[in-house]
Amino acid sequence: MALTISKRCMAIAPSVTLAIDTKAKEMKAQGIDVIGFGVGEPDFDTPEYICEAAKKAIDAGMTRYTPVAGTMALRKAIAAKLKKDNGLDYDPTQIIASNGAKQSLYNALAAILDPGDEVIIPAPAWVSYPEMVGMVDGVPVLVEGEEKNGFLPTIEQLRAAVTPRTKAIILNSPNNPTGNVCPKKLLEQIAALAVEKQLYVISDEIYEKLIYDGNVHISIASLGEEIKKQTIVVNGVSKSYAMTGWRIGYAAGPIDVIKAMTRFQSHATSNPNSIAQAAAATALENGEKQIAAMVAEFSVRRDMMFELINGIRGLSVVKPEGAFYALMNISGVIGKKYNGRVIDGSGAFSEMLLESFKVAVTPGKAFGSDCHVRLSYATSRENIKEGLKRIADFVSALTD
Ligand code: PMP
Ligand code: GLU
Repeated sequence: MALTISKRCMAIAPSVTLAIDTKAKEMKAQGIDVIGFGVGEPDFDTPEYICEAAKKAIDAGMTRYTPVAGTMALRKAIAAKLKKDNGLDYDPTQIIASNGAKQSLYNALAAILDPGDEVIIPAPAWVSYPEMVGMVDGVPVLVEGEEKNGFLPTIEQLRAAVTPRTKAIILNSPNNPTGNVCPKKLLEQIAALAVEKQLYVISDEIYEKLIYDGNVHISIASLGEEIKKQTIVVNGVSKSYAMTGWRIGYAAGPIDVIKAMTRFQSHATSNPNSIAQAAAATALENGEKQIAAMVAEFSVRRDMMFELINGIRGLSVVKPEGAFYALMNISGVIGKKYNGRVIDGSGAFSEMLLESFKVAVTPGKAFGSDCHVRLSYATSRENIKEGLKRIADFVSALTD
């Protein structure tokens, strides 16, 4: 046989969000003054009490394999969190912890999809969903929400996308990259559609705690016993507890799906890191105070970013309601030139901005919209001011 790379791997596009982050971090390491609006990662440190829990876990010898789905202590802490925050009753056997919510999502798709099965993904959508669906030989079906509706799809659009091959729908509220929050009415309509058509719902609730203006997060699984039975709730500690590097995410759902995910994980990676599991359990049990402070700060930064962007001619943004992203519309500058080079889409805009003005943003084409770029406001107020000043300078340097 020829020494070739598989078609499956050749078809995978690398994660743009992570690539931009790597590039911005490399530039910073070289002493270049880059403002990073690229990656979605809290700029806060993991709270001290969580780090202490990890140190204690090492001292207590928690350094061995754990059950594949995670320690009983962690799964009980997750069950208690789901009950307290979301009104959801799950037995710990209906829960699996993984290496980040990313692995939880991948496991869930692997557990339910056969080749050719379709998955509906409201778009703009986080870059990894369509790739992950493809990685398990499923077919992503993107349903584009209009910007004037806060990028939310309508129930009619979703219904029209269902075919006999549709197996699941991925929901992500609060949303990456749009910052929208799915209203209760739409959640109810989606739940009814999923029950009628017998579709799984994979509900990615990783930004649950990052929600503003008194909005409340609702898990679709909490809308009734029927929808709960076909929903896989995915969440994790990366965003809410500033623990991106610890790699703990989790899923809760029907026992047969969770068992399938556990079989899959047992061969792919085994349990997630034992020390991080102990730290995550402590985070879930005690984290509320830090979260409130972090959310208050994100809310101020969101307002700043919203006003600064909308003050630049040619750019605009819908006010995000959750997560820490602003999806900036750049259609007013597409077709213009910088130093003779045409901005023909979000890729060119992002490249020129990084190269010439040292501001990292993520091109919207990674999320399915080439007339937007995504800015993360998980960075300091000073950076937001300086970064938006540079963006304004860039835009005013453009010519027809
Ligand atoms: N879902 C969404 C929508 C995300 O933006 C991210 C970003 N990291 C994840 C899941 C995965 O998070 P993690 O693997 O760090 O838990
Ligand atoms: N989810 C974050 C983002 O969208 C982190 C990077 C990633 O995992 O994609 O920037």
